[in-house]
Amino acid sequence: MAEERTPGFNTLAIHAGAKPDPATGARATPIYQTTSYVFDNAEHAASLFGLQAFGNIYTRIMNPTQAVLEERVAALEGGTAALAVASGHAAQAIVFHTLCQPGDEIIAAKKLYGGSINQMGHSFKSFGWNVVWADTDDLSTFEAAVSPRTKAIFIESIANPGGIVTDIAAISEIAKKAGVPLIVDNTLATPYLCRPFEHGADVVVHSLTKFMGGHGNSIGGIIVDGGTFNWSAEGRFPLLSEPRPEYHGIKLHETFGNFAFAIACRVLGLRDLGPAMAPFNAFLFLTGIETLPLRMQRHSDNALAVAEWLTQHDEVTWVSYAGLPGDRYHNLAKRYSPKGAGAVLTFGVRGGHEAGVKIVESVELFSHLANIGDTRSLIIHPSSTTHSQLTDDAKAASGAGPEVVRLSVGLEDVEDIIADLDQALKA
Ligand SMILES: *Cc1c(COP(=O)(O)O)cnc(C)c1O
Repeated sequence: MAEERTPGFNTLAIHAGAKPDPATGARATPIYQTTSYVFDNAEHAASLFGLQAFGNIYTRIMNPTQAVLEERVAALEGGTAALAVASGHAAQAIVFHTLCQPGDEIIAAKKLYGGSINQMGHSFKSFGWNVVWADTDDLSTFEAAVSPRTKAIFIESIANPGGIVTDIAAISEIAKKAGVPLIVDNTLATPYLCRPFEHGADVVVHSLTKFMGGHGNSIGGIIVDGGTFNWSAEGRFPLLSEPRPEYHGIKLHETFGNFAFAIACRVLGLRDLGPAMAPFNAFLFLTGIETLPLRMQRHSDNALAVAEWLTQHDEVTWVSYAGLPGDRYHNLAKRYSPKGAGAVLTFGVRGGHEAGVKIVESVELFSHLANIGDTRSLIIHPSSTTHSQLTDDAKAASGAGPEVVRLSVGLEDVEDIIADLDQALKA
């Protein structure tokens, strides 16, 4: 008899969660474009509603196309279960809805995706969840931020605007000591470059919109449960440890064990807040993920070549990319994302604001837009766009000074990418 093999990452990216459709034999995952599902009988309906049986009721909560995506991403990350939702931001809102009560605190890295800084600093505040910011370059700020109301620590593995790699294991130690889960946004790295559960993360979130989907065609997010955290230890997470009145008093952690967090996000957060993923988008994400390993390697190789070329350019004052030997984050990159440092990098252009604007107006192959993680090469000048509402000091503090240009290096021939930057820098 053949030995049980654990499939490799490339195999999982194509096959995890998927099998030929039992009804038709279709090999690609069918798009189950339906709102709801017929019950076998009244008893079956009651058992689904009471969480005594798993099954499809209504597509907002569960859908067979999403189920394949969830199983695939859980396998790639090495987690126990996952929940697909409408966007990366929806994933974050549901995670913290599951963890926090009014008056609770989240410790978050200062260097995050700009939208996450807004979501946590403003919208979460109106739910009564308070963010305490900490600095990934000075881990004592994480320790100092811990209080009895802390419910989670939130970081990005490779931090937007790119080039920054976070010491996940060290921050995981701080989270363990504090008795709270470590939530890692793995959007820029993807599990091909970095697997946060191997370094002590408890929950991983993604904006699938970026590299996981990879083709700039759909918005989506996912929550992956690492199955590692004890939600009942101190009664700190009542949604997980206390009886749920709407489910006949069951305790989610006690009932669902090492995938209780994913279940809680589904049957409480997604059910009540409502940001469901469209089945068609789940299909597009599955198709994108089939080539994730090939794409992420090429993204990283192209980005490194572009970064090396930029360091030699007279019009460029600095380049921030952890893949560059000598970069401040290079040692962390070697540890946490050894196959490459991803697609996103920033550089400073001589001539400040005006020169930055001139470059984004002069590129031809690059697209000037506010996204990352497309097959196409993308460029933005944060100071005149995403960060334009900030004061000059706040721009500089968030890495969006007047001279900063951000690239998401695509999958085109690297010679063409470099030639386009060269003519734009000359302009
Ligand atoms: C884009 C992004 C998000 C938000 O994702 P959406 O799908 O746009 O809601 C969160 N985190 C990071 C790192 C991102 O790049």
